[in-house]
Amino acid sequence: MRNNLYYGSKNAIATLNSLDSFILVTQNPPFDNIFQKKLTQHPIQIIYPTNVDIHYLKEMSQKVSRNKDVDYVVGFGGGVAIDTAKFFSWKWKKPLIQIPSIISTDAFLTHEIGIRVDNKVQYIGKAVPEQIIIDFDVIKSAPKVLNYAGTCDVLSICTALGDWKIAYEEFGDKIDKKIYSKARNCAQNLLNDAPVIREMQEEGIRKLVGYLQEEMQICTEWGNARPEEGGEHHLAYCIEELSPKRYLHGALVALNILTVLRLQGDYAEFSYTELKDFFDFIGHSYKFEQIGITEELYRRALHEIHFYVQKETLEKGIWFKKDLFSNISISDVINWILGF
Ligand SMILES: [Zn+2]
Repeated sequence: MRNNLYYGSKNAIATLNSLDSFILVTQNPPFDNIFQKKLTQHPIQIIYPTNVDIHYLKEMSQKVSRNKDVDYVVGFGGGVAIDTAKFFSWKWKKPLIQIPSIISTDAFLTHEIGIRVDNKVQYIGKAVPEQIIIDFDVIKSAPKVLNYAGTCDVLSICTALGDWKIAYEEFGDKIDKKIYSKARNCAQNLLNDAPVIREMQEEGIRKLVGYLQEEMQICTEWGNARPEEGGEHHLAYCIEELSPKRYLHGALVALNILTVLRLQGDYAEFSYTELKDFFDFIGHSYKFEQIGITEELYRRALHEIHFYVQKETLEKGIWFKKDLFSNISISDVINWILGF
C-alpha cells in the first residue's frame, strides 16, 4: 500500500510534466496562473468542480466526455477535486493520479468514491490511484488549519474505541483486542507528535500521512471503519443532514470528539482534556463559530442523534444508549462547549 505514495519537493509539477495526455481535475488554489506557467505539458482539459453532488457530476461528465480518451485523470486539490477525479477515473476506466494540496481528510488515500445524493454521502464505487504525490511545497503553502483538520480522521479513533467498548459490553457486538490496541497506539502516537504536527513541515506532513495510512490499514484488517469511525462521525452526518452545507470536516469532527468523550464517561478510552489540549496546542479549530454552526443546530442534533443512528442503521455506540443524557443534559453539553 505504501509503494504508490511519492514524497518530494516540486514533484507535483514534475509529475504533470511527465504525462502525455491527461485531464486535470483541480481547484484554485492550488492551481493558479503561477502554477500553470510552470507546466510544459498542458492538460487536454482542466475541470474546476465545485461540489460532488451526483447530478452535478453526471452533468459535468457528459460535458467533458468528448475528451475522455486520455492516459490519465489527475486530481490536484482538496476533497472536491480528489473525489471528482476518483469519479471520472472510475467512470471512464482511466488510471488515476492523486495530488492532494491539503491533508484535511483521508480521502486522497481511500479508494471509495464519496459523492453526495440528496446531501448525503454515498460511496458508489472504487478508484485505486496509480500514484499519490505528496508535494511538501504545495502542502506547506496551504493554511495550516486545513492540514490540522487531517488529524481528526486519526483522532476519531479516540471516540470510536469507547463506542466499540459500549457496543461490545451493552449490545453484544464483536471486538478484536489486537486491532483495538493497534488503533489505540496509532491515536496515542499522533497525540505524542503534537510539536511536529503543529509545525506542519516535512516531518509533520510525513507523520500525518503515515498515521492516516496506518488508520486505514487497521480498518482494512478489521473489515470496516469501526476502529476509526464512531459517534463523532455519526453526529457530523446528522448535522449535515439537518443543515446541508460543506463544513470543515476535521473541525466538526474535533468538536464531536470532545462531546462524545465527555458523554462516554467511564467508557472513554482517552480524556477530553487530553484531546482539547492537543487541539489548543496545535491551533486546530473546534468552536461553534470556527466550524460555522450555531448553538441551536448543535442542540437540535443532540436531540435527534439517538433516532438518526437507528434510522441510518449505523454502528452501535454511545448514541444508542437509552440513558444518554441522564448524567449530563444536552444543556450541560452546550454550556460546556460555549465555555471553550
Ligand atoms: Zn472523517
